[in-house]
Amino acid sequence: MHLDPFSLYLHVPFCLQRCSYCDFFTMPLGEDRQGSFSPYLRALHAEIKAMAPMFAGRVLHTIFFGGGTPSLLEVEEMAAILEALRSTVPWHDEIEVTLEVNPETWTLEKARSFRSLGINRVSIGVQSLNPRALAMLTRNHDVQGARRCLDISRDAGFSKINLDFIWGRPELEIDDWRKELESILSWSPEHLSLYELILEPGTPMTRAVQRGELSLPSEDERLEMYRLTREVLADAGMEWYEISNFCRPGHECLHNMYTWQGFDYLGVGPGAHAFLGTPGFGRRRANPRNMPKYLGAPHEAPWVPRDAEDAVLEALLSGLRIREGFSLSLLRRRYGLDLNELLGKVAQPLVDIGHLSTSSERWSLSTGGAEVLDEIVKFLAARLPALPEDAQGTDATTA
Ligand code: SF4
Repeated sequence: MHLDPFSLYLHVPFCLQRCSYCDFFTMPLGEDRQGSFSPYLRALHAEIKAMAPMFAGRVLHTIFFGGGTPSLLEVEEMAAILEALRSTVPWHDEIEVTLEVNPETWTLEKARSFRSLGINRVSIGVQSLNPRALAMLTRNHDVQGARRCLDISRDAGFSKINLDFIWGRPELEIDDWRKELESILSWSPEHLSLYELILEPGTPMTRAVQRGELSLPSEDERLEMYRLTREVLADAGMEWYEISNFCRPGHECLHNMYTWQGFDYLGVGPGAHAFLGTPGFGRRRANPRNMPKYLGAPHEAPWVPRDAEDAVLEALLSGLRIREGFSLSLLRRRYGLDLNELLGKVAQPLVDIGHLSTSSERWSLSTGGAEVLDEIVKFLAARLPALPEDAQGTDATTA
Protein backbone atom coordinates (compact mmCIF):
# COMPACT_ATOMS: atom_id res chain seq x y z
CA MET A 1 0.00 0.00 0.00
CA HIS A 2 1.34 3.46 -0.97
CA LEU A 3 0.90 5.98 1.82
CA ASP A 4 2.02 9.08 -0.12
CA PRO A 5 -0.67 11.55 -1.18
CA PHE A 6 -2.32 10.56 -4.44
CA SER A 7 -4.50 12.87 -6.51
CA LEU A 8 -6.84 12.88 -9.47
CA TYR A 9 -7.49 15.71 -11.92
CA LEU A 10 -10.66 15.53 -13.99
CA HIS A 11 -11.05 17.82 -17.00
CA VAL A 12 -14.46 19.08 -18.11
CA PRO A 13 -13.74 20.86 -21.38
CA PHE A 14 -16.94 22.82 -22.07
CA CYS A 15 -17.50 26.56 -21.59
CA LEU A 16 -20.41 28.84 -22.35
CA GLN A 17 -18.07 31.16 -24.22
CA ARG A 18 -14.36 31.54 -24.74
CA CYS A 19 -12.50 34.17 -22.73
CA SER A 20 -10.13 36.41 -24.68
CA TYR A 21 -6.94 35.28 -22.86
CA CYS A 22 -7.70 31.58 -22.54
CA ASP A 23 -5.41 28.87 -23.86
CA PHE A 24 -6.91 25.90 -21.98
CA PHE A 25 -8.42 22.99 -23.85
CA THR A 26 -12.06 24.09 -23.97
CA MET A 27 -14.96 23.91 -26.40
CA PRO A 28 -18.06 26.09 -26.70
CA LEU A 29 -21.05 24.20 -25.34
CA GLY A 30 -23.50 25.33 -28.01
CA GLU A 31 -27.25 24.69 -27.99
CA ASP A 32 -27.16 20.89 -27.94
CA ARG A 33 -25.92 20.33 -24.40
CA GLN A 34 -26.64 16.61 -24.33
CA GLY A 35 -25.06 16.14 -27.75
CA SER A 36 -21.82 17.49 -26.29
CA PHE A 37 -21.93 16.04 -22.79
CA SER A 38 -23.23 12.50 -23.46
CA PRO A 39 -20.31 11.17 -25.55
CA TYR A 40 -17.84 12.98 -23.32
CA LEU A 41 -19.30 11.41 -20.17
CA ARG A 42 -19.34 7.95 -21.77
CA ALA A 43 -15.65 8.29 -22.61
CA LEU A 44 -14.87 9.66 -19.15
CA HIS A 45 -16.50 6.67 -17.45
CA ALA A 46 -14.69 4.29 -19.81
CA GLU A 47 -11.42 5.99 -18.92
CA ILE A 48 -12.06 5.73 -15.16
CA LYS A 49 -12.87 2.05 -15.59
CA ALA A 50 -9.77 1.39 -17.69
CA MET A 51 -7.70 3.17 -15.09
CA ALA A 52 -8.68 0.85 -12.23
CA PRO A 53 -5.35 -1.06 -12.23
CA MET A 54 -3.44 2.20 -11.78
CA PHE A 55 -5.36 2.87 -8.57
CA ALA A 56 -4.38 -0.50 -7.07
CA GLY A 57 -2.93 -0.10 -3.57
CA ARG A 58 -3.67 3.63 -3.54
CA VAL A 59 -5.86 5.88 -1.45
CA LEU A 60 -7.17 9.04 -3.11
CA HIS A 61 -6.29 12.20 -1.15
CA THR A 62 -7.61 14.86 -3.52
CA ILE A 63 -9.84 15.22 -6.57
CA PHE A 64 -9.88 18.38 -8.67
CA PHE A 65 -12.60 19.08 -11.24
CA GLY A 66 -11.04 21.64 -13.58
CA GLY A 67 -11.86 23.00 -16.97
CA GLY A 68 -13.35 24.36 -18.99
CA THR A 69 -16.31 24.83 -16.74
CA PRO A 70 -16.94 21.78 -14.55
CA SER A 71 -19.78 23.59 -12.78
CA LEU A 72 -21.73 22.98 -16.01
CA LEU A 73 -22.12 19.35 -14.88
CA GLU A 74 -25.63 18.47 -13.74
CA VAL A 75 -26.10 17.02 -10.26
CA GLU A 76 -26.86 13.50 -11.58
CA GLU A 77 -23.79 13.59 -13.83
CA MET A 78 -21.56 14.62 -10.94
CA ALA A 79 -23.13 11.95 -8.70
CA ALA A 80 -22.38 9.27 -11.31
CA ILE A 81 -18.74 10.37 -11.70
CA LEU A 82 -18.15 10.42 -7.94
CA GLU A 83 -19.82 7.04 -7.59
CA ALA A 84 -17.59 5.59 -10.33
CA LEU A 85 -14.53 6.93 -8.52
CA ARG A 86 -15.68 5.67 -5.12
CA SER A 87 -16.15 2.19 -6.48
CA THR A 88 -12.71 2.25 -8.16
CA VAL A 89 -10.39 3.59 -5.46
CA PRO A 90 -10.65 4.06 -1.68
CA TRP A 91 -10.93 7.69 -0.57
CA HIS A 92 -8.95 9.19 2.29
CA ASP A 93 -11.16 10.12 5.27
CA GLU A 94 -10.28 13.78 4.79
CA ILE A 95 -10.25 13.86 1.01
CA GLU A 96 -10.32 17.32 -0.59
CA VAL A 97 -12.68 17.50 -3.58
CA THR A 98 -12.44 20.79 -5.46
CA LEU A 99 -14.75 22.09 -8.16
CA GLU A 100 -13.91 25.06 -10.38
CA VAL A 101 -17.00 27.23 -10.63
CA ASN A 102 -17.92 29.93 -13.09
CA PRO A 103 -20.39 32.41 -11.61
CA GLU A 104 -23.01 32.16 -14.36
CA THR A 105 -23.45 28.41 -13.82
CA TRP A 106 -24.01 28.36 -10.05
CA THR A 107 -27.28 28.33 -8.15
CA LEU A 108 -27.96 27.73 -4.46
CA GLU A 109 -29.76 24.50 -5.29
CA LYS A 110 -26.86 23.18 -7.34
CA ALA A 111 -24.29 24.29 -4.76
CA ARG A 112 -26.18 22.49 -1.96
CA SER A 113 -26.54 19.33 -4.03
CA PHE A 114 -22.85 19.28 -4.98
CA ARG A 115 -21.89 19.89 -1.36
CA SER A 116 -24.02 16.94 -0.25
CA LEU A 117 -22.34 14.73 -2.89
CA GLY A 118 -18.96 15.34 -1.24
CA ILE A 119 -17.54 18.34 -3.09
CA ASN A 120 -15.95 20.29 -0.23
CA ARG A 121 -13.96 23.07 -1.90
CA VAL A 122 -14.86 25.49 -4.69
CA SER A 123 -12.61 27.66 -6.76
CA ILE A 124 -14.50 30.58 -8.29
CA GLY A 125 -13.27 32.24 -11.49
CA VAL A 126 -13.80 35.92 -10.67
CA GLN A 127 -10.73 37.30 -12.53
CA SER A 128 -11.42 40.98 -11.78
CA LEU A 129 -13.65 43.32 -9.78
CA ASN A 130 -13.37 45.95 -12.50
CA PRO A 131 -16.29 45.88 -15.00
CA ARG A 132 -14.11 47.16 -17.85
CA ALA A 133 -11.52 44.49 -17.21
CA LEU A 134 -14.21 41.79 -17.13
CA ALA A 135 -15.38 43.00 -20.55
CA MET A 136 -11.81 43.00 -21.88
CA LEU A 137 -11.32 39.46 -20.60
CA THR A 138 -14.71 38.62 -22.22
CA ARG A 139 -15.92 37.03 -19.01
CA ASN A 140 -19.50 35.86 -18.99
CA HIS A 141 -20.39 37.46 -15.65
CA ASP A 142 -20.32 40.82 -13.94
CA VAL A 143 -18.97 41.79 -10.51
CA GLN A 144 -22.37 41.33 -8.86
CA GLY A 145 -22.65 37.85 -10.39
CA ALA A 146 -19.27 36.89 -8.94
CA ARG A 147 -20.28 38.20 -5.51
CA ARG A 148 -23.55 36.26 -5.71
CA CYS A 149 -21.58 33.12 -6.55
CA LEU A 150 -19.43 33.57 -3.44
CA ASP A 151 -22.49 34.16 -1.24
CA ILE A 152 -24.23 31.11 -2.68
CA SER A 153 -21.16 28.97 -1.98
CA ARG A 154 -21.01 30.18 1.61
CA ASP A 155 -24.76 29.72 2.09
CA ALA A 156 -24.47 26.16 0.74
CA GLY A 157 -21.95 25.35 3.47
CA PHE A 158 -18.62 25.56 1.64
CA SER A 159 -15.91 26.64 4.06
CA LYS A 160 -13.04 26.21 1.62
CA ILE A 161 -13.45 28.75 -1.16
CA ASN A 162 -10.84 30.10 -3.53
CA LEU A 163 -11.24 33.19 -5.69
CA ASP A 164 -9.21 33.37 -8.91
CA PHE A 165 -7.98 36.73 -10.23
CA ILE A 166 -5.73 37.89 -13.06
CA TRP A 167 -3.32 40.80 -12.65
CA GLY A 168 -0.74 42.30 -15.00
CA ARG A 169 -3.65 42.83 -17.41
CA PRO A 170 -3.60 45.40 -20.21
CA GLU A 171 -4.41 48.88 -18.94
CA LEU A 172 -3.96 47.89 -15.28
CA GLU A 173 -2.15 50.59 -13.31
CA ILE A 174 -0.54 50.07 -9.95
CA ASP A 175 -2.97 52.29 -8.06
CA ASP A 176 -5.94 50.57 -9.68
CA TRP A 177 -4.56 47.20 -8.64
CA ARG A 178 -4.10 48.45 -5.07
CA LYS A 179 -7.76 49.55 -4.99
CA GLU A 180 -8.86 46.27 -6.54
CA LEU A 181 -6.91 44.30 -3.93
CA GLU A 182 -8.67 46.30 -1.21
CA SER A 183 -12.04 45.50 -2.79
CA ILE A 184 -11.09 41.82 -3.02
CA LEU A 185 -10.16 41.79 0.68
CA SER A 186 -13.51 43.39 1.55
CA TRP A 187 -15.05 40.07 0.38
CA SER A 188 -13.13 38.32 3.23
CA PRO A 189 -11.62 35.52 1.13
CA GLU A 190 -9.84 32.59 2.80
CA HIS A 191 -7.82 31.72 -0.31
CA LEU A 192 -6.79 33.70 -3.37
CA SER A 193 -5.11 32.53 -6.57
CA LEU A 194 -3.70 35.65 -8.21
CA TYR A 195 -2.25 34.81 -11.59
CA GLU A 196 -0.15 37.12 -13.69
CA LEU A 197 -1.59 37.37 -17.20
CA ILE A 198 0.49 35.33 -19.61
CA LEU A 199 -0.10 36.10 -23.28
CA GLU A 200 -0.53 32.71 -24.91
CA PRO A 201 0.06 32.43 -28.68
CA GLY A 202 -3.03 32.84 -30.82
CA THR A 203 -5.53 34.12 -28.25
CA PRO A 204 -7.64 37.18 -29.17
CA MET A 205 -5.97 39.14 -26.37
CA THR A 206 -2.48 38.29 -27.63
CA ARG A 207 -3.47 39.39 -31.13
CA ALA A 208 -4.89 42.66 -29.78
CA VAL A 209 -1.60 43.33 -27.96
CA GLN A 210 0.38 42.44 -31.10
CA ARG A 211 -1.74 44.88 -33.14
CA GLY A 212 -1.02 47.58 -30.58
CA GLU A 213 -4.68 47.93 -29.51
CA LEU A 214 -3.85 46.94 -25.94
CA SER A 215 -0.66 47.38 -24.00
CA LEU A 216 0.60 45.45 -21.01
CA PRO A 217 2.19 46.99 -17.94
CA SER A 218 5.99 47.07 -18.23
CA GLU A 219 8.15 44.42 -16.55
CA ASP A 220 9.03 46.86 -13.74
CA GLU A 221 5.37 47.71 -13.20
CA ARG A 222 4.51 44.03 -13.04
CA LEU A 223 7.19 43.41 -10.45
CA GLU A 224 5.87 46.34 -8.45
CA MET A 225 2.33 44.93 -8.70
CA TYR A 226 3.51 41.54 -7.47
CA ARG A 227 5.36 43.06 -4.52
CA LEU A 228 2.37 45.24 -3.72
CA THR A 229 0.13 42.16 -3.81
CA ARG A 230 2.31 40.32 -1.30
CA GLU A 231 2.45 43.34 1.02
CA VAL A 232 -1.25 44.21 0.95
CA LEU A 233 -2.31 40.61 1.47
CA ALA A 234 0.24 39.93 4.22
CA ASP A 235 -1.06 43.01 6.07
CA ALA A 236 -4.50 41.42 5.87
CA GLY A 237 -3.25 38.09 7.28
CA MET A 238 -3.02 36.31 3.92
CA GLU A 239 0.55 35.20 3.34
CA TRP A 240 1.80 33.72 0.09
CA TYR A 241 2.35 29.96 0.33
CA GLU A 242 3.07 29.49 -3.36
CA ILE A 243 4.19 32.09 -5.89
CA SER A 244 0.62 32.85 -7.05
CA ASN A 245 -1.37 31.57 -4.07
CA PHE A 246 -2.27 33.26 -0.80
CA CYS A 247 -4.40 32.09 2.09
CA ARG A 248 -5.29 32.33 5.73
CA PRO A 249 -3.53 29.65 7.78
CA GLY A 250 -4.93 26.18 7.17
CA HIS A 251 -6.66 27.02 3.87
CA GLU A 252 -3.95 25.85 1.44
CA CYS A 253 -5.16 23.92 -1.61
CA LEU A 254 -3.99 20.38 -0.87
CA HIS A 255 -4.40 19.23 -4.46
CA ASN A 256 -1.99 21.80 -5.80
CA MET A 257 0.39 21.44 -2.85
CA TYR A 258 0.73 17.70 -3.48
CA THR A 259 1.36 18.32 -7.17
CA TRP A 260 4.04 20.94 -6.51
CA GLN A 261 5.64 18.68 -3.91
CA GLY A 262 6.04 16.00 -6.57
CA PHE A 263 3.48 13.43 -5.48
CA ASP A 264 1.65 11.24 -7.98
CA TYR A 265 -1.53 12.20 -9.77
CA LEU A 266 -3.64 10.80 -12.54
CA GLY A 267 -5.69 12.84 -14.99
CA VAL A 268 -8.90 11.94 -16.80
CA GLY A 269 -10.65 13.80 -19.59
CA PRO A 270 -9.34 15.34 -22.83
CA GLY A 271 -6.11 17.28 -22.35
CA ALA A 272 -5.63 16.00 -18.78
CA HIS A 273 -2.10 15.24 -17.60
CA ALA A 274 -0.85 12.48 -15.30
CA PHE A 275 2.40 11.88 -13.46
CA LEU A 276 3.70 8.84 -11.62
CA GLY A 277 7.06 9.10 -9.85
CA THR A 278 7.95 5.43 -10.31
CA PRO A 279 9.14 3.08 -11.73
CA GLY A 280 12.56 4.38 -12.79
CA PHE A 281 12.66 8.18 -12.68
CA GLY A 282 8.91 8.40 -13.21
CA ARG A 283 6.71 8.99 -16.23
CA ARG A 284 4.18 11.44 -17.60
CA ARG A 285 1.31 11.29 -20.00
CA ALA A 286 -1.06 13.78 -21.58
CA ASN A 287 -4.46 12.94 -23.03
CA PRO A 288 -5.11 14.41 -26.50
CA ARG A 289 -6.31 18.01 -26.62
CA ASN A 290 -8.75 16.93 -29.26
CA MET A 291 -12.27 15.72 -28.51
CA PRO A 292 -12.75 13.24 -31.41
CA LYS A 293 -9.38 11.64 -30.63
CA TYR A 294 -10.20 11.44 -26.94
CA LEU A 295 -13.66 9.99 -27.60
CA GLY A 296 -12.14 7.35 -29.88
CA ALA A 297 -9.50 6.18 -27.37
CA PRO A 298 -10.03 7.68 -23.92
CA HIS A 299 -7.28 5.74 -22.17
CA GLU A 300 -4.56 5.25 -24.72
CA ALA A 301 -2.23 8.21 -24.37
CA PRO A 302 1.32 6.86 -24.12
CA TRP A 303 3.42 7.20 -20.97
CA VAL A 304 6.68 9.06 -21.53
CA PRO A 305 9.52 8.11 -19.14
CA ARG A 306 11.62 10.80 -17.43
CA ASP A 307 15.36 10.65 -17.00
CA ALA A 308 17.26 11.67 -13.86
CA GLU A 309 17.81 15.23 -15.13
CA ASP A 310 14.06 15.70 -15.75
CA ALA A 311 13.36 14.39 -12.26
CA VAL A 312 15.76 16.86 -10.60
CA LEU A 313 14.77 19.90 -12.68
CA GLU A 314 11.05 19.27 -12.29
CA ALA A 315 11.51 18.89 -8.53
CA LEU A 316 13.31 22.25 -8.43
CA LEU A 317 10.88 24.06 -10.72
CA SER A 318 7.74 23.02 -8.93
CA GLY A 319 9.09 22.40 -5.40
CA LEU A 320 10.68 25.82 -5.14
CA ARG A 321 7.36 27.50 -5.98
CA ILE A 322 6.20 26.60 -2.49
CA ARG A 323 7.23 29.01 0.24
CA GLU A 324 8.11 26.26 2.75
CA GLY A 325 10.17 24.67 -0.02
CA PHE A 326 10.28 21.00 -0.75
CA SER A 327 11.50 17.98 1.10
CA LEU A 328 14.63 16.34 -0.31
CA SER A 329 13.52 12.98 1.01
CA LEU A 330 11.26 12.20 -1.96
CA LEU A 331 14.17 12.38 -4.46
CA ARG A 332 16.31 10.36 -2.08
CA ARG A 333 13.68 7.73 -1.40
CA ARG A 334 12.52 7.37 -5.00
CA TYR A 335 15.77 7.69 -6.92
CA GLY A 336 18.66 7.67 -4.49
CA LEU A 337 19.49 11.27 -5.54
CA ASP A 338 20.76 13.66 -2.89
CA LEU A 339 20.27 17.28 -3.95
CA ASN A 340 22.80 18.56 -1.43
CA GLU A 341 25.48 16.25 -2.84
CA LEU A 342 24.56 17.09 -6.45
CA LEU A 343 24.06 20.84 -6.24
CA GLY A 344 24.86 21.97 -2.68
CA LYS A 345 28.22 23.55 -3.59
CA VAL A 346 27.14 25.24 -6.81
CA ALA A 347 24.02 26.58 -5.08
CA GLN A 348 26.11 28.31 -2.40
CA PRO A 349 26.22 31.70 -4.22
CA LEU A 350 22.39 31.69 -4.23
CA VAL A 351 22.44 30.98 -0.49
CA ASP A 352 25.01 33.76 0.04
CA ILE A 353 22.85 36.40 -1.64
CA GLY A 354 19.82 35.29 0.38
CA HIS A 355 17.74 33.81 -2.47
CA LEU A 356 17.94 30.17 -1.40
CA SER A 357 18.01 28.39 1.90
CA THR A 358 19.22 24.79 2.10
CA SER A 359 19.32 22.20 4.85
CA SER A 360 19.79 18.45 4.92
CA GLU A 361 16.02 18.02 4.59
CA ARG A 362 14.64 20.95 2.63
CA TRP A 363 15.37 23.65 0.04
CA SER A 364 13.31 26.82 -0.16
CA LEU A 365 13.42 30.28 -1.72
CA SER A 366 13.21 33.63 0.01
CA THR A 367 10.65 36.16 -1.15
CA GLY A 368 13.31 37.75 -3.38
CA GLY A 369 14.37 34.34 -4.70
CA ALA A 370 10.78 33.50 -5.64
CA GLU A 371 10.73 36.56 -7.93
CA VAL A 372 13.53 35.02 -10.01
CA LEU A 373 12.63 31.33 -9.75
CA ASP A 374 13.17 30.62 -13.47
CA GLU A 375 16.63 32.19 -13.45
CA ILE A 376 17.57 30.21 -10.33
CA VAL A 377 16.50 26.93 -11.89
CA LYS A 378 18.39 27.80 -15.11
CA PHE A 379 21.49 28.59 -13.03
CA LEU A 380 21.30 25.23 -11.26
CA ALA A 381 20.39 23.30 -14.42
CA ALA A 382 23.54 24.58 -16.16
CA ARG A 383 25.66 23.22 -13.29
CA LEU A 384 24.04 19.82 -12.85
CA PRO A 385 26.67 17.05 -12.79
CA ALA A 386 26.34 13.75 -14.66
CA LEU A 387 23.49 11.73 -13.20
CA PRO A 388 23.00 7.96 -12.96
CA GLU A 389 21.03 6.21 -15.69
CA ASP A 390 19.14 4.02 -13.25
CA ALA A 391 17.16 5.06 -10.23
CA GLN A 392 18.58 3.66 -7.00
CA GLY A 393 15.95 4.66 -4.44
CA THR A 394 13.97 2.26 -2.29
CA ASP A 395 10.79 3.14 -4.26
CA ALA A 396 12.51 2.95 -7.66
CA THR A 397 10.89 -0.25 -8.88
CA THR A 398 7.45 0.31 -7.38
CA ALA A 399 4.81 0.71 -10.10
S1 SF4 B 1 -14.24 30.04 -18.48
FE1 SF4 B 1 -12.09 29.47 -18.00
S2 SF4 B 1 -11.66 27.68 -19.27
FE2 SF4 B 1 -13.52 28.63 -20.09
S3 SF4 B 1 -12.81 29.97 -21.72
FE3 SF4 B 1 -12.93 31.23 -19.84
S4 SF4 B 1 -10.88 31.08 -18.93
FE4 SF4 B 1 -11.03 29.46 -20.47
